[in-house]
Amino acid sequence: MQTQLKLYNSKNREIEVFEPLNPPFVGMYVCGPTVYSEVHIGNVRTFGSFDLIYRYLLHLGYKVRYVRNITDVGHLLDDTSEDRISKKARLENIEPMEVVQRYTVDFHQTMEKFNALPPSIEPTATGHLIEQIELVQTILDKGLAYVSNGSVYFDVAAYNKSRNYGELSGRNVDDLISNKRALDGQDDKKHPADFALWKNAEPQHIMKWNSPWGVGFPGWHLECSVMSTKYLGKQFDIHGGGMDLKFPHHECEIAQNKAGYDEEPVKYWLHTNMLTFNGKKMAKSEGTGVTPREMLTGNHPLLTQAYSAMTIRFFMLQAHYRSTLDFSNEALQAAEKGLKRLMVALEAIDGLPTFDKSSVDVNDIKEKLYGAMNDDFNSPIAIAHLFEMVKWVNLITDGKETINEADRSSLSTLAHTFVHDILGLQNETSNDGSEKIDGLIQFALELRQQAKLDKNYSLSDNIRDRLKEIGFEIKDGKDGTTYNPI
Ligand code: AMP
Ligand code: ZN
Repeated sequence: MQTQLKLYNSKNREIEVFEPLNPPFVGMYVCGPTVYSEVHIGNVRTFGSFDLIYRYLLHLGYKVRYVRNITDVGHLLDDTSEDRISKKARLENIEPMEVVQRYTVDFHQTMEKFNALPPSIEPTATGHLIEQIELVQTILDKGLAYVSNGSVYFDVAAYNKSRNYGELSGRNVDDLISNKRALDGQDDKKHPADFALWKNAEPQHIMKWNSPWGVGFPGWHLECSVMSTKYLGKQFDIHGGGMDLKFPHHECEIAQNKAGYDEEPVKYWLHTNMLTFNGKKMAKSEGTGVTPREMLTGNHPLLTQAYSAMTIRFFMLQAHYRSTLDFSNEALQAAEKGLKRLMVALEAIDGLPTFDKSSVDVNDIKEKLYGAMNDDFNSPIAIAHLFEMVKWVNLITDGKETINEADRSSLSTLAHTFVHDILGLQNETSNDGSEKIDGLIQFALELRQQAKLDKNYSLSDNIRDRLKEIGFEIKDGKDGTTYNPI
C-alpha cells in the first residue's frame, strides 16, 4: 500500500522518485558543524531535519550509512581571514584541539537531548589530511589547479572549459569572475572565482601541516569531497546541508569531485531551509543565534520561558524542512500544548474500550501518514494526520465512536511508530522516574518560596544554588518559578 518515496532534488529543482544507486544500501553525507562554539538552534533545525530523513529511510528498510563530518580546521571567516577555530584558541589562549574537543562533546550532548540518532561515521577534517593532500595533487596533475605562493587554488576557468561550475546554485561563472573583482586583490588567485584547495600558513598561524607546497592547511570545501568519497564512494545517494551551504561550499565540492574523480558525486542534493527570527536568518554574528542551552533554561532575552527539547523538536517538525521557520514564543507555546495533547492521546490508545464494531478507518490514517512522509518527508502534514488520530481517540474515550480490538492494536502500533521511531518524539515525563524528580523539585521550590516569604534569603538562595549544582536551573518569571535541566 505504501506509495514510493519522492524527494525534492535541489540540483534538478524537481521532485523525484527515490531510487538508490545500490539498494537496499543508501549513502548519505551531511555537512556537520564547525566546532568553534556551541551550535545555535538554527543548526539544530538542520541536523534535526536530517535526523527525520535518516529515521524515515531506516524505517523504510534501507541500510543507511550516514556520514556527518566535524569541521575542525579550515573554515575561514572569509576567504582571506583567520580560521574560526584558531581564532577562538588564540582568544582563549588554549590549544585549537581543546576548542574542538569542547564543542564536539557539547554538540553530541545537544543532539542527544534532541533525540537525534548518531551518524554511522563522524569523520574529522584533521583526521583526513593525507587524503586531502592526495586530492589536491590529483587536481593539480589534471591541470585544474595551480600553485601560487605556497597555496593551491582551484582553476575555475580551466575547469569550466569542459564542465559547468555553478550547476548546483545556478550561478553564472562569468558574473562571478567579474563581480568579485575588488574583494580578493590582495591574494594570489588568477581569478576571483578561484577557491583555495590548500592555503599557505603565515608564521603566526597555529593549525598547519607539511605538504608538497609548503606548510599550510586545507581549504574548507576539500574535507567534504574527500570524506564523502572515502566512506560512501565516488558516487553516493544523498548529500545534505543547510541552504546557505549551496554556494560556495557544495558548488566547490562538486567541482573538486568532478575534477579529481571524473564522476558526478551525488544523486540527490537535499537542502534544509533556515530558522529565522523576525524573518531574518538566525545567526550568531547578528546576535540572533539562540543556543539550545538558552532555550532549555529560558535564559535569553528573546524567550519568555524555558522550552523542553521535545517541544523544540516538535515545533521544528511542524514546518517542512524546505520552508523557512520563524522562531517565536507564541509558536513554541502552541507547540508545547500540541505535543502534550498528542502524547496524552498516544498513551490513551492501549486503554481504549473495545467493541465488536469499529468506526475508525485505521488504514486510511495509515495511508495518509505514509503519503505525507513519502511526499518529500512532509512532517507537518503527517502531524496534522496524527491530530486526526487524536480526535478519534478522544471521540472513542467520550463514547461517541467505537473501535474493535484489532483496530486498536494496529492504531497503537501505527501511532507509536510514527511518533517515536519516525518523528523521534519522546515522552518527557513518563520514563525513568522523571515524574518523581519533578515532584521533588517542585517541593524544593515550595520550600524556597516559603523561605522567601519568611525573608530567610540565605536559605532561599541556598536552595537555588544547590539545585543548580545538581543540574537544575531555576528561573523566576512573571508566571511563577520554572526549572530546567542544565
Ligand atoms: P556551520 O557550523 O556554520 O557550518 O553550520 C552547520 C549547519 O547548520 C549547516 O548545514 C548550515 O547550513 C546550518 N545552518 C546555519 N544557520 C542556520 C539557520 N539559521 N537555520 C537552519 N540551518 C542553519
Ligand atoms: Zn561540507
